[in-house]
Amino acid sequence: MTEKSGVICSKCSRRAVFSSKGSGIRLCREHFLQDFEIRVSRTVENNGMIRDGERIAVAVSGGKDSTALLLSLHRMLADRNVEMVAVTVDEGIAGYRDDTILSAGQICSRLGVEQVIVSFREEFGCDLDEMVRGKNVAPCTYCGVFRKNALNRTAKLLHADKVATGHNLDDEAQTVMMNYLKGDYERLMRFRPRQARSGLVARIKPLREMPEKEIALYCMVNGAFFPSRECPYADLSLRADVRDMMNRLESLFPGVKRTTVGGFVDIISAASGCFSQVELGACRQCGEPCVEGLCKACELLDGIKRRS
Ligand code: SF4
Repeated sequence: MTEKSGVICSKCSRRAVFSSKGSGIRLCREHFLQDFEIRVSRTVENNGMIRDGERIAVAVSGGKDSTALLLSLHRMLADRNVEMVAVTVDEGIAGYRDDTILSAGQICSRLGVEQVIVSFREEFGCDLDEMVRGKNVAPCTYCGVFRKNALNRTAKLLHADKVATGHNLDDEAQTVMMNYLKGDYERLMRFRPRQARSGLVARIKPLREMPEKEIALYCMVNGAFFPSRECPYADLSLRADVRDMMNRLESLFPGVKRTTVGGFVDIISAASGCFSQVELGACRQCGEPCVEGLCKACELLDGIKRRS
């Protein structure tokens, strides 16, 4: 998928900005935007993700995925009785997050969407950098656990009905593959769509069927592509290796990311009834939902205190 000079749109006579290796379709700017938004709308509608009267907390980091999420939802929901508020989580990653927070602020003010910023420092007492400095721990694990916790708490304070995140097709395929590779079927099954649970604001992923490259192009053609450095911790995770592997496979066998996710969806429906949804209680320390005893965030915080 690249910008094609001299190549004509399959639907009109304008110059194509997009071409798909798999389907052979080529689209000009206008038809690409239309096609992108129709596909996102279809994911939202087919899965009953957003209903009239709801307030949606949109997780906006300022990266391309969350920028595309906010832009597309803003267009799709313009005529509907749905409120949006953007939530930006500042994990405290020096030399990385400051830039994306600025980008998040820019896109929110351009669209007139209220933005609320919460930080690990305010919520948990220290930045991610401090949590992991000099310790033999996986930064992405800490980041993911505390970010989810901060988003859930903020969404409840904002009386949001749903939290929308910018997870895309690439993220979904990587998550399925990582759990296969770890042999972690329980975590894999937790990844399936679940019913609402007490204390947890329901999460929706409107971009989950959209490839990362199309998301980047969607931001570019909307004049909202803010180039940013990669997170300094990104290369330390298994996800980075799985991402490279999936990208290589996709270039050799177009469509493999989609079939990885599609195959997982088939497995879930074949296994339906075999895995019951675990009931959640409240963390004895912070009151956030968890399976039993301490939630993961409090467990990690206790570990940080013990080590410092
Ligand atoms: Fe957080 Fe890891 Fe993503 Fe960096 S790469 S923002 S540490 S999850």
